[in-house]
Amino acid sequence: MIQVTHLQKQYSNGLQVLRDVNTTIKRGEVISIIGPSGTGKSTFLRCLNMLETPTGGQILVNGEDITSPKTDITKIRQKMGMVFQSFNLFEHLSIIDNLCLAPIRLLGKSKEEAKKRGLELLAMVGLVEKADAMPSQLSGGQKQRVAIARCLAMDPEIILFDEPTSALDPTMVSEVLGVIKTLAQQGMTMIIVTHEMRFARDVSTRIFYMDQGVIYEDGTPEQIFGNPLQERTRVFINRIRDYRYTIHSAQYDLYELQGGLIGFCQKYFLSEKKQFNVQLLVEEVLKVVPLDKGDVELALRYSEKGEKVSLELTMPQGVEQVLENDENIDDLAMMIIQGLCQNIEYQHTEDTGQLRICLTLKDKPLKDKK
Ligand code: ADP
Ligand code: MG
Repeated sequence: MIQVTHLQKQYSNGLQVLRDVNTTIKRGEVISIIGPSGTGKSTFLRCLNMLETPTGGQILVNGEDITSPKTDITKIRQKMGMVFQSFNLFEHLSIIDNLCLAPIRLLGKSKEEAKKRGLELLAMVGLVEKADAMPSQLSGGQKQRVAIARCLAMDPEIILFDEPTSALDPTMVSEVLGVIKTLAQQGMTMIIVTHEMRFARDVSTRIFYMDQGVIYEDGTPEQIFGNPLQERTRVFINRIRDYRYTIHSAQYDLYELQGGLIGFCQKYFLSEKKQFNVQLLVEEVLKVVPLDKGDVELALRYSEKGEKVSLELTMPQGVEQVLENDENIDDLAMMIIQGLCQNIEYQHTEDTGQLRICLTLKDKPLKDKK
């Protein structure tokens, strides 16, 4: 359906963002693009529907070279819907009118026809009750679902999503991802730039890892998330699996830390109970490890394989004994920690030999009354 060869994009300020992008996308594929920010993911999407003009290479859509000046770009864009981070609804139009505008103007549909289809699509995204509401009456998640329905109203052959959930309150991410998942199940061809890794893994047929202006690795979700072949992919995947925080002193910023922990838990759809246990564990652990001897590095990790959550603390150099055989230790905190964890392990880091404590949360800690 889409064939990209040696695609390049250099912005007028001289910045070469896309260096050499090559790929073929088939009908029915769901491709998630992941990668560090600033590597050209948005630029790539925007080149695909000519919102940006490539400075080199070729993009064939159904065999037609869209970079050629002879191509009717408006026609091409109608086949390629795009959903952005910001919803871009027409604020002065009702929801249903937002959906009808383009089909009437650009596809020449009658009002009745456009409205009938619009209501069908609103039903599909769960918002038929809001047909006559104004955009300002909707939540961010609802607006984004309207934006998706509006895109579908043009009967696109492919939809490009650029971080569709990045601007949303965390509680609204799932409702939007749910709609995209439904579209995937219906066989819609989609390219999705996203930071939602769990979602990308579940919904995609293929993952592109983009880095430094190229598709650096292209593979199945199993390969990219489970066993990436390239070094930089591996580093990226390992980094996003962790939530890291450095504690400099006992006066650390508790709210920032807790906020980060919650964000991480929500990214992986951990239950409320697990989120609570993670917060509790961190809080109690920080009561019993010394925070006045140097930086304590904290890493929260989620292993999707066994669905296990573990907390790793790397102690400052010189600290050798914690949690064990300490007379001054807070017994209650220790009891809570032992109640929450199925396993507590002590290691030393390979390079500097610093003490590292690895605590693995029990699956159902509260049932286990010790
Ligand atoms: P990503 O989506 O992967 O974060 P982008 O495609 O948005 O990356 O941007 C890649 C790089 O191009 C960034 O360094 C960004 O600042 C730059 N860039 C994006 N748009 C423009 C523009 N219109 N003009 C100049 N530089 C741009
Ligand atoms: Mg971007």
